[in-house]
Amino acid sequence: MQASETSKTRELSGTAAVGGPPYRAPREEFPILSRPVNGRPLVWLDTAATAQKPRRVLDAMRSFSETRYANVHRGVHTLGYAATQAYEEARLRVAQFIGASGADEVIFVRGATEAINLVAASFGRSFISSGDEIIVTELEHHSNIVPWQLLRESTGAVLKVAPIADDGTLDLVQLEAMLGSRTRLVAVTHVSNVLGTVLPIATIARMAHAVGAHLLVDGCQAVPHRFVDVQAIGADFYAFSAHKMYGPTGIGVLWGRRELLAAMPPYQGGGEMIASVTFEQTTLKHPPHRFEAGTPPIIEANGLAAACDYLTDLGLARICGHEAALRAYALEGLATVPGLRVIGAGGNHEDGRAGIISFTMDGVHPHDVATVLDGSGIAIRAGHHCAQPLMQRLSVPATARVSFGLYNTTEDVDALVAGLGEVGEVFG
Ligand code: PLP
Repeated sequence: MQASETSKTRELSGTAAVGGPPYRAPREEFPILSRPVNGRPLVWLDTAATAQKPRRVLDAMRSFSETRYANVHRGVHTLGYAATQAYEEARLRVAQFIGASGADEVIFVRGATEAINLVAASFGRSFISSGDEIIVTELEHHSNIVPWQLLRESTGAVLKVAPIADDGTLDLVQLEAMLGSRTRLVAVTHVSNVLGTVLPIATIARMAHAVGAHLLVDGCQAVPHRFVDVQAIGADFYAFSAHKMYGPTGIGVLWGRRELLAAMPPYQGGGEMIASVTFEQTTLKHPPHRFEAGTPPIIEANGLAAACDYLTDLGLARICGHEAALRAYALEGLATVPGLRVIGAGGNHEDGRAGIISFTMDGVHPHDVATVLDGSGIAIRAGHHCAQPLMQRLSVPATARVSFGLYNTTEDVDALVAGLGEVGEVFG
């Protein structure tokens, strides 16, 4: 690294606004980042799809597996107790991480997709009937659209879509106008996985609650990148996946307000979610165990808790500041690439965007952009990003997307901009 680049990184990553020493992207803590790809150092710019894992998370899962592994809530043997204790401690650490009022509000699921399906199947079928309204936005990932369509088909509920402006921000005036006495649920993303737009969740919560509706927030792209306090923002349900927050695959979280969870029927039946079973009748456990049928992701829960601790120790305000600075630096670099158009950027809300940028290049399909960059060891995502309705709204079939994580540096951005120059040369 050249001296000038070092100082640029320092300047960019300065954390004066949030205090503490200057932020230094901890690349060396992520073993995979030291492997070359196609003969070049790996530049991982696909964190919105999934985040790479720090040693601390990998070590937590290995250490648990090597010393305390057993099934949970079953065995009366020593390891059964140790594993159960670790699993429930992991739940408590997650609860503290998101500001839940107790560990019993944290349900371990497979990921955000399952969390949202759980709410649709359980809360939806119990409290949403024919003619009742669910409101989503044009920004949503398919996992916050399709479960509501399935619910609509089974209940006769009405699905409404709140529009966005061309700069990718949610039109709050139109959202408020759509809310009414039939609105039961507003289901919105916290941060767009395509544009990085950050939605004003506290405001949306106030609007929803004013008409007696509940608010579900898809927090997949928020929890790893900014401080989230589920109670302070006024959510009723909050869903996220561990693998996007430097934790393992196979586990995610549904947080729900205690009184709502208590009123909800189970989503699946099986072992572990019952107090007693006869062929005539089953008595259910209380939440969260009521919603965790079968053997849960035990090893992964330990990895998720380690990821929460890791993010807390690094400081989410500092991570957020670092990624915002990388976004601004990248936008400057992308502006120098001929024929490159950033999608849905600008407007009054640019300052609040998360570290996700979508773009197109004249005459080059986004898949070709990604393929050429891959030849230089640079991983970005191309396609519709599981947000086809948003692609239609933006009048593009697909985009190329870069997304930053806490390990990215200005050097990664420089490599991206140089790689995009090569894309331009390859495609004339
Ligand atoms: N919501 C958003 C905003 C996402 O970005 C994603 C994943 O890309 C999901 C939901 C679904 O997450 P998972 O596939 O981990 O369930």
